[in-house]
Amino acid sequence: MSNIVAIVGRPNVGKSTLFNRLLERREAIVDSTAGVTRDRHYGKSDWNGVDFTVIDTGGYDVGTDDIFEEEIRKQVQLAIDEATSIIFMMNVEEGLTDTDQEIYRLLRRSNKPIYIVINKVDSSKEELPATEFYQLGIDKYFTLSSATGSGTGDLLDDIVNDF
Ligand code: GDP
Ligand code: MG
Repeated sequence: MSNIVAIVGRPNVGKSTLFNRLLERREAIVDSTAGVTRDRHYGKSDWNGVDFTVIDTGGYDVGTDDIFEEEIRKQVQLAIDEATSIIFMMNVEEGLTDTDQEIYRLLRRSNKPIYIVINKVDSSKEELPATEFYQLGIDKYFTLSSATGSGTGDLLDDIVNDF
């Protein structure tokens, strides 16, 4: 069975930055055919010798927060359908938003493992503001800087361990 990790979250939280980092020098498979794979990037990665596929969800040309509830619903449902593990990414810069809460509400309906990631924690001074995300009612989150890669090792250790 193949392991498929989807990265889900609002525009601009840093999904594509993490996706590209996970792929490193590997080549992304861009599927431009119409249908369910539209606007989705697929790529191969591995951690500790374990191979997996990564999906970068969402229209990667969407540069704003102007995302409709229906579109979010569609993305989340596709992630739930296609993935074996889901990374739900938010960011400390913008804090916890209503849209984040809605996405999490949808994700919780699935029985797939969900890894909560707070991105843009570029230094220790963002660790305290990140505690705001406990308001989601979660026990654990990972703080990440996708820009530098810090925190990705701990996240991948857990994801691969749960395969
Ligand atoms: P997406 O819309 O969720 O795919 O977000 P992108 O990956 O396109 O990133 C949106 C913006 O956030 C870009 O300008 C990135 O350079 C920036 N960004 C991504 N990750 C980080 C991070 O860890 N720290 C900081 N400071 N900026 C980041
Ligand atoms: Mg993107």
